[in-house]
Amino acid sequence: MITIPETIWTRMLDEFEGEAREVEQVAYFDGIVIEDAERMVGVATTLTIPDALLEAGRFEVSPEAMSQAGKHFRRCRMQRLAQVHTHPSAWVGHSPWDDQRAYSQAVGAISIVLPDFARNRPTLEQAGVHVRTRTGWRQLSEEEKAQRLRLVPGYLDFRKHETKPITNLPTSVLTPRGRRWWHALAFWRNKEA
Ligand SMILES: [Zn+2]
Repeated sequence: MITIPETIWTRMLDEFEGEAREVEQVAYFDGIVIEDAERMVGVATTLTIPDALLEAGRFEVSPEAMSQAGKHFRRCRMQRLAQVHTHPSAWVGHSPWDDQRAYSQAVGAISIVLPDFARNRPTLEQAGVHVRTRTGWRQLSEEEKAQRLRLVPGYLDFRKHETKPITNLPTSVLTPRGRRWWHALAFWRNKEA
């Protein structure tokens, strides 16, 4: 089971959206793996985008780009948990090229395919998820997908006060934390005066 924070999924969609050209794009979910005798649990901590060659119908990650995109593994004791790439159409299968050029051919490797260049901000449910078996790549059923991958909140905020980003507000309407409430009143009094 691989756990992916929604913040990482969202950031990936943001980055894919930022590509103006109509080309396939690729990213990786990297993270921490906890293994015991029975199962492997992976937690994605990092979205890694390689310096890939992007084309309308495929992408290519050179050995140099792949090595660059894996330099943090040893230092951070991290592993690559999954590859994500986009397709031009609604089809989220694996092409022979995808089979051959996937980031890994290790049994259990996971490859996620997003439809329509990920332009419509696809959910995990809309993605095709493929696993490398001993005999080749196989697309997972909806049920298998849910057993292999899950998204969890990456950010929860229960504060009751104003939570708009401070930079979007004129500084004059802010009441900084720690300021006494009557200072806010004084502000309004001054404004009316
Ligand atoms: Zn593909």
